[in-house]
Parts: sequence; structure tokens; C-alpha cells
Amino acid sequence: MNYQKILEEIKEEVKPLFGKGKVADYIPALARVGSNHFAMSLQLFDGRVYGVGEVDCRFSVQSISKIFTYAMVLSAYGKELFKRMNHEPSGNPFNSLVQLEYENGIPRNPFINAGAIVVTDILESIYTGEAFSKILEFIKEVSDNSKIDYDKEVAISESRSGFRNIALINMMKSYKNISNDTKDVMGIYFKQCSISMSTKELSRAVLFLANHGVDPITKKRFLSESQAKRLNSLMLTCGHYDASGDFAFRVGLPGKSGVGGGIVALVPELMSVCVWSPELNSKGNSLVGTKALELFTTKTGLSIF
Ligand code: GLN
Repeated sequence: MNYQKILEEIKEEVKPLFGKGKVADYIPALARVGSNHFAMSLQLFDGRVYGVGEVDCRFSVQSISKIFTYAMVLSAYGKELFKRMNHEPSGNPFNSLVQLEYENGIPRNPFINAGAIVVTDILESIYTGEAFSKILEFIKEVSDNSKIDYDKEVAISESRSGFRNIALINMMKSYKNISNDTKDVMGIYFKQCSISMSTKELSRAVLFLANHGVDPITKKRFLSESQAKRLNSLMLTCGHYDASGDFAFRVGLPGKSGVGGGIVALVPELMSVCVWSPELNSKGNSLVGTKALELFTTKTGLSIF
């Protein structure tokens, strides 16, 4: 298959969609990112990479960080985890408070904000005072790249305007589903959202998830086969908040989006893909990115279904 040609076709075919979405503007640092960016990278198991657009341009990974923190707790924490959050799609926006209250402070899944905040709380319990450096270390390790870092300006901006996230953690604390100091946990959560990576780096970082938990290039195991199955299934059912069904319907791959406009997706046993385009649809997922991935599975026949 001529992947490079397919990527170039996709880049042309998504052009009419620019201007139809809206760049995240809840913090100035994200609102400033221009709207017309586009990048798409493929990372194959044999080390080949293909790309189109600004594949080296770093952007804010935002909620894509949730897959890395969840991978860390899955391998470190065991069954206790499943008492503190569920594994069901939320059918609600990523930062919704409503469902969390009537479900007694137990988040629906680890990929909405409430669930990811519980995951961060667990990491703080495991690595007291060092949770963020451990998160960064893990991402560097799975990326096989020691240069990954976070954007301090985005992190400060996040903490100044994260009122809804602060409401979520306080609600969960009232239900005793947060063990640590809420300010400490939010400080880590805002930093993890502010990690900057390019599509090339992100597609490399998630490759182990397409290979049952083992990086096919370095041969390092990060998750057991069963843990990788669990994480991938959550990407398929919960990776796009209340548009997860639509993403599965249109793209047919496990994927995870972030409000920075990035989406990662996996073609099990073959490759990982990352696309970036900052304009979002009404559910907070990259509008052009979703279309690009839909075109990708249509053109290649590589959906899991
Ligand atoms: N920083 C964002 C938030 O917490 C992350 C959400 C997202 O990417 N969907 O609101």
C-alpha cells in the first residue's frame, strides 16, 4: 500500500473543512494557536514512518495524556482501580458535573476529566510528590524520546481557568474518591494536559498499544496483553467523550482525542496514527482530524471491523 500517497490525498480532501470548526478558546494559550494547521503521521511496527503536513510541530496533547496516565495506573495499581471508576461511555461532555453527582462521585471512565483526575490522584498516592515527573518519564520512555516536555504557559493558563475541573475534584473529594490534597492533584493534572508533542512523536508514543503492550521497535513491554486490551477497548468506547460512538461508526479504530486538536488511533498489529488540526467540532474533537481518519480507513480498508 502506498501510504504516503494516501496521506497526500487526505491532506487535499480535507481542505474544504477548514473554517468549519472552532479552536479551543477556554485558555488564551490555546486560543492563540492558528486554525489552519494540519499534520498526519503513521508509525509502522517495522520502524517506517510516513507523514504529511507539519509533522514536527508540537501542540498541546491535552486529553491524549489520559491514555498514558491510565496505562501507568493499570500496571501499578491493580483491581482497586475498578472500584474508583467505571468502564462505560459517559454519553456526556468531557467536563460534565451532572452525571458525577448522581453516580456518587464515581466517574464513568478514565478518559473523561473526572476519571482522569482520579487516575492522577492515584499516581500521586503511588509517587508522592513526584507524580508529574513520573508521568513525563513514562511518556519519554514509550516515545523512546528524552526531549518530550510540557508547556509552562499552557499549564499556568489551565490552572487559572480550570474552574470546572476544580469543581469536579471537589465533588469527588466530597464522595471520598480523592485521597490527596485537591490542589496538588490539580497541579499535576494541568501539567499533564500541557505536555507538547508532535504527530510524529505521538504516533511513536502509542505504538506499544497497537502491539499488545510491547513496543515492537525496542521490544520493551509496558503493559500486559490483558491491560493493553482493556486500554484499547476504552479508547474505542470512550476515547471521544459523547462522540465516541460516532468516531467508531465513522473511523472504526480505537482512538483518543484532546482539545488541542490531536487524535491518536491504533491499527492493531500494524501501526499507530496521529492527526492534528486545532479546529474542534461541537463535542470537542478535531473536526478535520476526525474526517482525515475516516478517509484513512476508507481508503486503506484498515478499520478493525
Ligand atoms: N485541559 C482540558 C480540560 O481539562 C482537557 C480536556 C480535553 O482535552 N478534552 O478541560
